[in-house]
Amino acid sequence: MFEMRERAGLGRTGRLTTHHGVVETPALMPVVNPSNLVIHPKDLAGRFKVDIIMTNAYIIHRSELRDRALKEGIHRLLEFEGPIMTDSGAFQQHVYGRVDISNEEIVKFQAALGSDLGSVLDIFSEPDDSRESCQAAVDGTLARCREGAALKGKMGLVGVVQGGLFPDLRQKCAEGLSQIPLAAQAIGGVVPLLESYRFADLVEVIVASRKGLRPDRPIHLFGAGHPITFGLAVLLGCDLFDSASYAKYAQDGRMITPWGTTRVRNLKHVACSCPACFDATPRNLREDLGRLAEHNLYASLQELKEVKQAIHEGSLWEHVERRSRAHPRLLEGLKALRKHAEFLERYEKLSDGSLFYTGPESIWRPVAWRYRRRILERYKPPEAQTLVILDEASRPYTRHYAALLRELLDKANAHFVVKSVLGPVPIELDEIYPIAQSVVPRELDVETLEAMEIFLRDFLRLGHFSFGLVWEGDETVAKLASRSPGPSPVDLDLTRAGAVADYQFGPGASDALFAGEVELVKSRRTRRIRNVYVGGEHILSMRARDGLYTLKLAGGRRLHDAFPPPRHRVLVDEESAPFNREGKNVFAKFVEECDEEVRPWDEVLVVDGSDDLLAVGRAVMNREEMMAFQKGVAVKVREGSALV
Ligand SMILES: [Zn+2]
Repeated sequence: MFEMRERAGLGRTGRLTTHHGVVETPALMPVVNPSNLVIHPKDLAGRFKVDIIMTNAYIIHRSELRDRALKEGIHRLLEFEGPIMTDSGAFQQHVYGRVDISNEEIVKFQAALGSDLGSVLDIFSEPDDSRESCQAAVDGTLARCREGAALKGKMGLVGVVQGGLFPDLRQKCAEGLSQIPLAAQAIGGVVPLLESYRFADLVEVIVASRKGLRPDRPIHLFGAGHPITFGLAVLLGCDLFDSASYAKYAQDGRMITPWGTTRVRNLKHVACSCPACFDATPRNLREDLGRLAEHNLYASLQELKEVKQAIHEGSLWEHVERRSRAHPRLLEGLKALRKHAEFLERYEKLSDGSLFYTGPESIWRPVAWRYRRRILERYKPPEAQTLVILDEASRPYTRHYAALLRELLDKANAHFVVKSVLGPVPIELDEIYPIAQSVVPRELDVETLEAMEIFLRDFLRLGHFSFGLVWEGDETVAKLASRSPGPSPVDLDLTRAGAVADYQFGPGASDALFAGEVELVKSRRTRRIRNVYVGGEHILSMRARDGLYTLKLAGGRRLHDAFPPPRHRVLVDEESAPFNREGKNVFAKFVEECDEEVRPWDEVLVVDGSDDLLAVGRAVMNREEMMAFQKGVAVKVREGSALV
């Protein structure tokens, strides 16, 4: 059973429960070769605090350890009490071109060893294999997964996505796996891509596989042991990694760093403070392979810790962008994410942390893509004749341009949009995520400048305003005063209240929410909108953190009346309904349906089968996740209808 804890895009921290304990994901499984223990499994559990290890059942099957392993079980053989995953030897058999064990034999063997997670004998495809060959590997692998599921006993079975570099075959294979009772899902066939630094291809393979895989099972990226790809893979939804690299690289005299590898023979300084390196000389690392292997493992585990912390603080994209500077091929992988913005956006929180610009790739993050799409689809301009286009500036823009706005709103019937790095920002939306929370350099690169032009052009093409001017100082004031004399009819606070509602809940939301006498309560200290009352009812609160609304029950009623099902709704079964009405959270296993457009951290309406409004709250998952997960909260309920 797998449960999601925290999230950032498709990336997540989670807990996988096995017969030998819980694995905190994302997790690295050091690969242990029982006939050549580079670091003893007791040390892996003790000094390295490793939750789970992996070993190769095929190698054990062929070795003299086989009978002892069967008699004692894999945990006693390896002297490791925590969960153990076993590999079927599919990769070895592929490399050596021999098949001397059947899927049935190796699955039964792993179950007999007491493995917590056992693998099927999948059929490996090389990146350059033909479509026919990859298709056959997919069909064969799926048949073996089905066979394995019937033989696995109480062992958790790991199925494998194959399909080479054909996205449709990868997705089809993944969809097939989702129908089979499995404990985890692996993405296979990626080692040749990693070895040849084909990271753009790796992105395509993971994305296509993830599209077909169920979100309620952990995803293992088979054979990806170098920490340089951990961030990218986690960002795309991978939860488990195995590393034989820590030992193999050591045997080859290579030291793993967050930026790549260094040959120990070239070491003059030991630029690492891990327990293995703390007081080591370059010579120590050259001469003591065990010590080098320990460093390599510490370095790999360290990177996963950083990835987890980045998920916690909402900076996983920054982390991946920074790491991608380590190698030009990794940068290609990062750039390949751009074309999947629409898919990735479904998993992005409504708001999360801040947005640090690390390069032109940053403006293509899914949250920026979402912002631009919503501006084009949801923005309703106020009644002003002329649009004035202002330059990118420090945030929030209304503070930066306060004096100018005061002057111009008196003199001209005008409205304002800032030509921002992330897309055009109507001035009343300057406090929402990710605009106010973004930090961008003052000097911009050509790629970003060109993109800004295109974003603005798309916005102007909507023809919201009869006339537009680029701000050029006093000259513009004179032009405006003659073209469209003021004062402006726009009340900036009311315009903001409505624009944020339409941005967050869709076109028509502001009309529905603000029908009646509107009272905006502002913070005395910051002068920013805090609470919105309509007809004496408290309907919304505006968060200082992201400039977006939390929904009160009275506001929920208004949205419920204005938007037909399934918009904004999470439909729960009758067992759950009374609890949610009392204000209790919605658990995923009780969700029967959910609006496709709900994103994590969206404000939602919890309803029963008759579309009665039970509660309002914040979604923690999107539809796909709510429908799949059997464990965990789907909606954090804020107000139940029974309490009001
Ligand atoms: Zn070290």
